This record gives sequence, structure tokens and C-alpha cells, in this order.
Amino acid sequence: MVTWGSGRCGTHRCGFTRLNRLATAAHARTDRSNVTVQPIRLFGDPVLRTPAAEVVDFDKELATLVKDLWDTMEDEGGAGLAAPQLGVGLRVFTYHCDGSAGHLVNPTWTAVDEQTQFGEEGCLSIPGQYWDCLRARNVVAKGWNMHGEPVVVEGSDLLARCIQHETDHLDGVLFLDKLDAETRKAAMKAIREADWFDGGMPTIKQSPHSLFGGA
Ligand SMILES: [Zn+2]
Repeated sequence: MVTWGSGRCGTHRCGFTRLNRLATAAHARTDRSNVTVQPIRLFGDPVLRTPAAEVVDFDKELATLVKDLWDTMEDEGGAGLAAPQLGVGLRVFTYHCDGSAGHLVNPTWTAVDEQTQFGEEGCLSIPGQYWDCLRARNVVAKGWNMHGEPVVVEGSDLLARCIQHETDHLDGVLFLDKLDAETRKAAMKAIREADWFDGGMPTIKQSPHSLFGGA
């Protein structure tokens, strides 16, 4: 069992999917022959609205999926990446933020108190869009690693936001769904005008989770 703590996000306006250009530059100089960067599915792709299935087999394919998620997340400078974002309908995500890094299989989370945080959030599947979103501030997530061993991750602030955001992905929920009505309207307008948006299926969905718990 592994437990990670977390500190505060050092750069408040860094954005949830902030690019770490130094890290990216360093990465580009390394041998990329074993890096498995995959294309990220964008808002409008139905796979992002489809609830993912529980992982049953902790096998080589799962290890490959975790590596694909990790390599793609790092290449994009993201704080987290969920399997549906690579078109894979399994309950797995990777994360790397606030000095904590890893992956969770079949994750659930609960808030440890009633504190909330309201701040900027973004998504690699919704490029260039950053909007203020209400989340629980302190959470504990439970799940398994790729070997089927239990994992517990405690997180606050950015890491807590990441855990909630990525678990939502596994239920077909996007952070747009968590915005207040006025902000969501502005976000949808901006998305419709974005270069990358091809007019797919810009749906809004109700999260199955309350603010303080994720099944
Ligand atoms: Zn996302």
C-alpha cells in the first residue's frame, strides 16, 4: 500500500493542464524510442461521454495502457489523464501534480472534510479552455495499481482537484458539467469557436457524484 501526501499548488494560476516547458524540453532530448504517446480524444468524441468498465484483468495489456497514459500525459504536460481520453473504456488514470505521481485502477474517492476549493481547471480533451470550477479541497482516493495491489492516495488542492477530475472522466463526466450555468454557457461558446472543435457531440451531463464523494 502506498500513500502520497501533497502540498499546495505553488503557482495558483498555473492551470490544471499547465505545460511544463522545461520538462518538455528536457524530455525532447531523451531517447523517445520507448515512449508511447497516443492521440488524445477531444470534446465531442462519444467515448468521453461513455462510462468506463471496471478493470478485471491486471495483465500485460493493463500495464501497457498505464504506460500509454503516463507517456501521453507527460508529453502533453498534463496533471492527469484518464483511459477514455485515449479511447479506452477502462477505469484507469495517471496523475502527476503537486509532487505526486502514479496511477489508479478502479478508483473511488471521498472528501475528508467539508472544505471546498474554487479555482481554474482545464482538460487535455478540451484544449485551451480554463474555467473556475468548484471541487472538494481534501480527498482520499482508493484503488489498485497495475499489479492488483491496493493503493491509497491522499490529496489536497491541485492533487485533490486532479483526482476528482480524472475519476469523473471514468463516468463520462467532464469538468464543463461542474461549472455554474453562466460559466458553462461562456465555455460552450468558446469551444464552438475553437479551431479544434469539429462540431461533434457537445453534450453536458449531470455528474453521478456529489461534491463530497465519488463512487
Ligand atoms: Zn480531463
